Amino acid sequence: MPVTSLPPDDSLPPDGTVAPGPSLARDGSLTLPPDGRLSLARDGSPSFDGRPGIPDSLGRALRDLRISVTDRCNFRCAYCMPAEVFGRDFAFLPRTEVLDFEEVARLAAIFVRLGVHKLRITGGEPLVRRDLPVLVGYLAALRSPDGEPIDLTLTTNGSALRALAGPLADAGLGRVTVSLDSLDDAVFGAMNGVDFPVSRVLDGIAAARTAGLAPIKVNTVVRRGLNEASVLPLARWARDEGFVLRFIEYMDVGHSNGWRLDDVVPADEILSRIDAELPLEPMAPGYRGEVAGRYRFRDGSGEVGVIASVTRPFCGDCTRARISADGHLYTCLFAADGVDLRAPLRDGESDAELEARIRAVWVARTDRYSELRSDATEGRPRVEMFALGG
Ligand code: SAM
Repeated sequence: MPVTSLPPDDSLPPDGTVAPGPSLARDGSLTLPPDGRLSLARDGSPSFDGRPGIPDSLGRALRDLRISVTDRCNFRCAYCMPAEVFGRDFAFLPRTEVLDFEEVARLAAIFVRLGVHKLRITGGEPLVRRDLPVLVGYLAALRSPDGEPIDLTLTTNGSALRALAGPLADAGLGRVTVSLDSLDDAVFGAMNGVDFPVSRVLDGIAAARTAGLAPIKVNTVVRRGLNEASVLPLARWARDEGFVLRFIEYMDVGHSNGWRLDDVVPADEILSRIDAELPLEPMAPGYRGEVAGRYRFRDGSGEVGVIASVTRPFCGDCTRARISADGHLYTCLFAADGVDLRAPLRDGESDAELEARIRAVWVARTDRYSELRSDATEGRPRVEMFALGG
């Protein structure tokens, strides 16, 4: 059923606000927000932005949804989907277990009614999912309870963007984030595990620019011994091209990548490498909950960011929910289990019932894995990054 024809949901009040949930203050006291529009950050300060959002048990409002549309990828990045584990015989999800576009769109519409205002399509590699512009069309038709368009974006390795940027933009995609770990073919080829050339990703980025998918963001995972030397050239390139570049600390997601703390290049080291050549100064966050620490070039030529999820965890401001390709809801990137939404969806639950299910999961949410990360948690079960989509 296309989203545009979804029946009205009478479980919400007419002004589109959602009922407030409890929030836990720093001193441990439990408070109920007066109108459901209040979220409390980790420092206990309120954040009013005039939008609805359900607070979880730590006061973090549900604002973002990441939707994985496939667990498959055409790259074999060693930090995510290493070739030796995910070879020819690896059993990815069978088609019947993957949500179809109508199912994805129906869930997304419910999340939007609950206060989500940013949708990110991801994977696996989302562009390997056939007919993706159809889903983009469904999602682009969604409106927030107060009638505003949703911020609709997509994270991709860029390999198929040259062909798809135009159709995606035509279908209503707003912007795009492209992952690119180096401008050096030898380094990039080794990191993507399939010798994919840099030039084809750059062609895809150029196509995204032509199609108006702006601003273009670029994500770079930095891994010790592999691409530290790529940091400065990437920073220079992104600054010259006007792209928003974010360096990501290598994270201990999943179990397949053999993560070790020694492989993490801390954000401070990444920044010092850049600052030594291109002096930087910190910027204020663009909005509460922004995961990237932002720094501007002192000469006024642009900015660069770091996502320091290992050395400076940001669980206190995490407003993100995730749906895996098989329709499980996760409230943390480091979660061990998701809550199955596909079964109730396929069993015929109403929107109101599904909404109540999602709301109950969010209200009870306590995850703050990155803040609790320690050697003691090493053996803890975790879902793989490609299943959740980063
Ligand atoms: N295939 C798409 C792409 O390449 O952007 C979307 C999915 S990918 C899992 C999303 C992002 O997660 C990419 O930027 C990727 O580099 C990042 N990523 C994957 N594994 C990671 C890890 N262990 N640590 C940090 N970032 C990681």
